[in-house]
Amino acid sequence: MMLAHFLDGLRCSICGTLNALWHDPVRGMVECRECGQSALCVPESGEVA
Ligand SMILES: [Zn+2]
Repeated sequence: MMLAHFLDGLRCSICGTLNALWHDPVRGMVECRECGQSALCVPESGEVA
């Protein structure tokens, strides 16, 4: 059972930390573990954020 997974190669748009974002599929959100910023994940073209 996978609750969340990290998103490799993505940079937080708020604090700029690389590979700090993780996707929570339960809430459908992406959250940064560095600054705590979270945003709704709305992939529009098959790509994640
Ligand atoms: Zn951040």
